[in-house]
Amino acid sequence: MKLVTVLGARPQFIKASVVSSALREAGALREIVLHTGQHFDANMSQVFFDELGMSPPAHHLGIHGGGHGEMTGRMLAEIERVLQAERPQAVLVYGDTNSTLAGALAAVKLHIPVAHVEAGLRSFNWAMPEEINRILTDRISHWLFTPTDAAQRHLVREGTAESQIFPVGDVMYDVALHHGARVGAGGGVLARLGLAPGRYLLVTVHRAENTDDAQRLRVIVDALAVIAREMPVVWPLHPRTRQVLAAGVQGADPSQGLHLIDPLGYLDMVQLEKHAAVIATDSGGVQKEAFFHKVPCVTLRDETEWVELVDARWNRLAPPRSVQEVATAILAAVGSAGEPVEPYGRGDAAQRIVQRLRTDLGA
Ligand code: UDP
Repeated sequence: MKLVTVLGARPQFIKASVVSSALREAGALREIVLHTGQHFDANMSQVFFDELGMSPPAHHLGIHGGGHGEMTGRMLAEIERVLQAERPQAVLVYGDTNSTLAGALAAVKLHIPVAHVEAGLRSFNWAMPEEINRILTDRISHWLFTPTDAAQRHLVREGTAESQIFPVGDVMYDVALHHGARVGAGGGVLARLGLAPGRYLLVTVHRAENTDDAQRLRVIVDALAVIAREMPVVWPLHPRTRQVLAAGVQGADPSQGLHLIDPLGYLDMVQLEKHAAVIATDSGGVQKEAFFHKVPCVTLRDETEWVELVDARWNRLAPPRSVQEVATAILAAVGSAGEPVEPYGRGDAAQRIVQRLRTDLGA
């Protein structure tokens, strides 16, 4: 028995690492990894395979760039070819990228059942490419593995059969427990950048709604410049964000007081997260990792899929509309703590996913 896992973007390599290792341990289902190529720089892709102990992909499509339609369409055609050759019993997809949608669509058209990890998340913002990808993927998936109660409620409200919804918890929590524990305060990126633990702001920005909107990006850069007068600001730049900043953000000076660095591997990133005074981000994964490491977080968006962290006051929304409001929100979050909640399961999501697939596939 075998299944094909379709991956393509940074957060997917990270999420898949724990499920792949649970599959290897179980032994009954052979995993064939297909990498679409959506993220291709070594520090956006290879580093995660190396650090998180993943087998190299059996298929690498090398597809990236172009518009959403072109990228998704090319992936769809190529994934279909691989699935026809491999003839797996199931296809496993993660999250909400173009690779997720292409993998799910190629499989379902070939009558191969799809397992969607991180199903049911909703921002209710149809302008986000991720919202479209996740809703369509949920609709055509056979197994919907939800990370949170909110995700489960969304699927039930949309009419998904409850027999297809599996509340397993969040695989990112598994990763944080398993790999995050390997990271200490000594050496690593903290030492390389000369940062004192607990005394800096960590930032990530890559959502299209921020990178592709000059006004919002300028608010973010200017707010970070305000913070940089109080404490160092470390910003590992996603390639898309670096490209936009290199093209020049009118009215902003990204060099002033900001550590603009290349994307980090997972272990360096976790070290920076664990020891930050505060984290400001538009990343889904980073919002949760801030919580896992009990660091206050400010989300640079109008809404979030991870509402339970806002409810428990580990996180707060700061839509990048006003420099002063964003800077104030970040500074006000320093030193704060939320309520003691445990919304992401027990750290055994990967085991539960593999168990369910084995049972249902008779493997
Ligand atoms: N991450 C990383 N290096 C970086 C920035 C992020 O390893 O320079 C990790 C981060 O720790 C988290 C994941 O990438 O595990 C989040 O991915 P991303 O922000 O790209 O996507 P999202 O979570 O928003 O889908």
